[in-house]
Amino acid sequence: MTDCDVAIIGGGPAGAAAATVLAREGLAATVIERERFPRFHVGESLLPLGGEVLDRLGVTAKVAAAGFVPKYGAWFLSNDGACESPVDFEQFLPPPHNRAFQVERADFDQLLLDHAAEAGAEVLTGWSAAEVTCAAGDCRLALTGDGGEGARGRRQLSARWVVDASGQSSLLARRLGLRTSDPALRKVAHFAHYQGGRRRPGKREGDISLVFGRGCWFWHIPLRRGRASVGCVIDHERWKAAEVSAEEFLAAAVATSPWLAAWLAGAERVTPTYTLADFSYSARRLAGDGWLLAGDAAAFLDPIFSTGVFLALRSGEAAGLLLARALRSGRPPSAAALAAYERRFRGWTRSYFRMIRAFYRPQFPGVLFNPVPLFFGPIARFLAGRLDLPWRERLILELFLGVVRLNRYLPIAPDPRSPEAAVYHG
Ligand SMILES: Cc1cc2nc3c(=O)[nH]c(=O)nc-3n(C[C@H](O)[C@H](O)[C@H](O)COP(=O)(O)OP(=O)(O)OC[C@H]3O[C@@H](n4cnc5c(N)ncnc54)[C@H](O)[C@@H]3O)c2cc1C
Repeated sequence: MTDCDVAIIGGGPAGAAAATVLAREGLAATVIERERFPRFHVGESLLPLGGEVLDRLGVTAKVAAAGFVPKYGAWFLSNDGACESPVDFEQFLPPPHNRAFQVERADFDQLLLDHAAEAGAEVLTGWSAAEVTCAAGDCRLALTGDGGEGARGRRQLSARWVVDASGQSSLLARRLGLRTSDPALRKVAHFAHYQGGRRRPGKREGDISLVFGRGCWFWHIPLRRGRASVGCVIDHERWKAAEVSAEEFLAAAVATSPWLAAWLAGAERVTPTYTLADFSYSARRLAGDGWLLAGDAAAFLDPIFSTGVFLALRSGEAAGLLLARALRSGRPPSAAALAAYERRFRGWTRSYFRMIRAFYRPQFPGVLFNPVPLFFGPIARFLAGRLDLPWRERLILELFLGVVRLNRYLPIAPDPRSPEAAVYHG
């Protein structure tokens, strides 16, 4: 007899989604979360189609009631703001999932984890999974922490199955030597929250802005109460050579972008400047005897298209459903079901990965800033999280990727940016 059916390591969106599904299916799910919530987390910009998962988890009304800033689209901008390419979700997607939210992750993640507890999951915060041994039907976890009680201690937990949703820690993939990174995506991000500064007028106030900067790209995400999340993503080598603090680096980088500097004029940084390095990787296997990986613990590619929370919710939900079906019948999940889970997850990340690689081509902004109406709909739906695009739209996206590649040799889409703003952002 085990303490629970499924132990879930990590209480972020992937872990909370898996726990909610399992608990609602009548299984005993225990979430182990090393932090005390609410805790700061990067990744504030959600995708519209993530709303479908929130609906299925039964948490949409709570998210709507939190008053997060609505996001109707995204704007790609040249460094000086003179060229812009807006993506409009409302125009190209049917309601209700034609907009998303910009969320303070401390509040959003707390809300999801509380929802999992309300659904019946046990949530242990302040406990870290230190050791894990897995075999189908018999997994053992050694936990360390204080559970918020002060005195540090250890406790044991046994489970029939483990979902690793430990985010960038990717506990099992590291332990099992399964993590692989793409050398082309060795990036570093510096980011902080700012109070004040400019926003778009009217309804599009909450849209995300993505700026092609000098040797970097920036995000600007409007949040509640006049705050904004601002970040800068640069190549690892460039950061290594910089010899300044993250704080100095971010401030200096912002100053090199006329558009962002103008938007942050008069704004005050109200959090520390955080740094995350080498965040792009994937695990060579996503499931094994007694374990499954979900969310960032399985793979994370690059934050440019704000896909992280969306994929965490989808994979957490899929992992929960897969285990619920199998364990309820008294049997471990079949090899075929685990392989299908892995195929689905890889399918989701593969499509985004191709777009990310295209994004880092120097000629990408030139193509984007030459508006071709044929591309608008498929790009908007793809960036909203529509992973099952009809074949015609998939073909149009292939054409877009082809034009980005070709544009290097044949200037079919001449870069409309001014010489000062036509900088490489990778
Ligand atoms: C620079 C940057 C910008 C980003 N911007 C966006 C964005 O705008 N939009 C977006 O959707 N995504 C964004 N992301 C990605 C997003 O942050 C993640 O994809 C998302 O948080 C993944 O959710 P998760 O549940 O898998 O992991 P997490 O949210 O990281 O949750 C994992 C949890 O596991 C806990 N944990 C870790 N180890 C242990 C352990 N041993 N024991 C117990 N608990 C443990 C952690 O404390 C954490 O709470 C960004 C990422 C980066 C790097």
